[in-house]
Amino acid sequence: MIKVEHLNKSFGSLQVLKGISTEIKKGEVVTIIGPSGSGKSTFLRCLNLLEVPTDGKIFIKDVEITDKKANIKKIRENVGMVFQHFHLFPHKTVLQNITYAPVKVNGMTKEAADKAGMELLEKVGLANKANEYPNRLSGGQKQRVAIARALAMNPEVILFDEPTSALDPEMVKEVLEVMKSLADTGITMLIVTHEMGFAKEAADRVLFLDQGIVVEDATPAQFFTNPQSPRAKEFLEKML
Ligand code: ADP
Ligand code: MG
Repeated sequence: MIKVEHLNKSFGSLQVLKGISTEIKKGEVVTIIGPSGSGKSTFLRCLNLLEVPTDGKIFIKDVEITDKKANIKKIRENVGMVFQHFHLFPHKTVLQNITYAPVKVNGMTKEAADKAGMELLEKVGLANKANEYPNRLSGGQKQRVAIARALAMNPEVILFDEPTSALDPEMVKEVLEVMKSLADTGITMLIVTHEMGFAKEAADRVLFLDQGIVVEDATPAQFFTNPQSPRAKEFLEKML
């Protein structure tokens, strides 16, 4: 589904990603773990061109998105993103947040988009909030709306950048439950998270990033019981 070859990203003289190469299969659930500032967000943002790689290649389903002629709009339709701070449209209702892109970008009829939107809200347990505005929702509810919004475009890949980091502890679980149910649907998921329990239970793979390098690429069982690098060992000792 995703192939990354020698990806480098610099901001000015600061090299943030240093030669990342990896492949992610269709349906894989991959968590990206690593210290703050290690380049996790930058890596995710490169995958849907929110950041333009300095060099290297990224392919999504055999389409080279780093090609100058790539159709960014099409790529973003196929690669959804969920952010730490939700980024909902404040002046739109919950349902309008979800139907906006399918209608505007995909040319879906309002009726079809509303119907699909309500089904998605059922899935994330928020059908009763369809006509509320985001500021009337809890953080956990906002994030579930953001997930439903990402799903509305029928992406094959969803990128999650610390989706539970801004939530009060009691709301983390409801969002992780929605993500776990998604993991079973065959959609490809990349998740930057500090939720080690989620990584252990729901992920197929862990990428450990340190200073812009993938230091470990392992199953959760391998990573959490027998990390290979001193940096991962040190990181896990602090986390667990
Ligand atoms: P992480 O998500 O792992 O915490 P980031 O990818 O956000 O790390 O950031 C990695 C490094 O890149 C940090 O040193 C950060 O300050 C820097 N960085 C990120 N985005 C930008 C930007 N737009 N301009 C300049 N520096 C940036
Ligand atoms: Mg980050």
